Amino acid sequence: MTITDKTKPVLVTGATGYVAAWIVKGLLEEGITVNAAVRNPHDKKKLAHLNKLAETLPGNIHYFKSDLLEEGSYAAAMEGCAVVFHTASPFTSRFKDAQKELIDPAVKGTANVLEQANKTSSVKRVVVTSSCAAIYNDAIDTVNAPGKKLTEAMWNETASLTYQPYSYSKTLAEKKAWEISEQQDRWDLVTINPSFVLGPALNAASVTSESYHILKQLGNGTLKAGAPMLGIGVVDVRDVAEAHLRAGFTPEAKGRYITSAHNSNILELANTLQAKYGAYPLPKRALPKWLLMLVGPMVNKAFSRRFIRDNVNIPWNADNSKIIKALGMKFKPLKETMEDSFQVLIDHKLI
Ligand code: NAP
Repeated sequence: MTITDKTKPVLVTGATGYVAAWIVKGLLEEGITVNAAVRNPHDKKKLAHLNKLAETLPGNIHYFKSDLLEEGSYAAAMEGCAVVFHTASPFTSRFKDAQKELIDPAVKGTANVLEQANKTSSVKRVVVTSSCAAIYNDAIDTVNAPGKKLTEAMWNETASLTYQPYSYSKTLAEKKAWEISEQQDRWDLVTINPSFVLGPALNAASVTSESYHILKQLGNGTLKAGAPMLGIGVVDVRDVAEAHLRAGFTPEAKGRYITSAHNSNILELANTLQAKYGAYPLPKRALPKWLLMLVGPMVNKAFSRRFIRDNVNIPWNADNSKIIKALGMKFKPLKETMEDSFQVLIDHKLI
């Protein structure tokens, strides 16, 4: 999209991340100064891809040391910004203490960033990277939804500290964001709610996102015996970044936006790769639900019987018409997203 006011810096929290890298790239292409809030501005490995972008693109990057759990640590990074993109939040299934590692950074971090917006008079728009995980918990919720599709009117009502805690962290964080934004009227809040994000990682050498953790399992033989027909939505990381930019710079943008391109499942994702990458040990068949019920809980504690019952062999559906109509979004085909993601795994020897 073409951004009209390029004079003010734009804050991106969690700028080292998979999604954030593409937002930063889009801003730099427009010649904007990016205030990149990162945990460690001296970590050369984590910042290498961002520095490379800044070398060739017209915009500039300034790094700021910020931590979600350190109150006030976004003050310097936000100074003078009209638009804030708040992407930072842990997205991982590898945690020991869900409260400390997922919920606290997500919820306290959102409060920290948005309360800083209240203290920073230049801020007019805050875009929070929420998730479809704040809208639904299990694929069965989409079947039970009015019209059998998720909409922006819905909230995840069943995630908890012990069942789908990442989804719980995103639900609580987005609720906190709306609560804080509704107490004032200088800046407005827009949320981007992506489904499962795939597509090429600019930060492949240091990628932490759960997206790549799952993608690797498609190509490294983990799912060679078969994949669960787990209903999910998928969207390309480049489209997610574009959605953020449209949400940040379209004055009329309002409320929540489901950002999901394809109603799919894990086996279908693998199938899109067969033609080009059939030499890799991709899953070729669906694992039966009864077998998953039997062994799933032993293999992975997140794969509980409840999770399998409510997600496997259940179609996933979301209504993405709001973002298409209101922000003019177009989405990449699934095959292109999958092939471009997989090529990054190969190029960076991640499988
Ligand atoms: P990611 O690459 O792991 O990015 C997470 C970012 O959060 C990193 O920059 C990380 O910084 C930062 N972060 C984590 N804890 C922090 C803390 N205590 N203080 C400051 N920064 C912290 O994952 P991602 O997939 O890009 O996720 C970005 C956002 O998109 C998250 O809000 C996630 O919930 C949301 N989302 C992702 C998906 C998906 O499928 N990928 C779908 C929907 C929504 P470090 O580099 O220092 O660790």
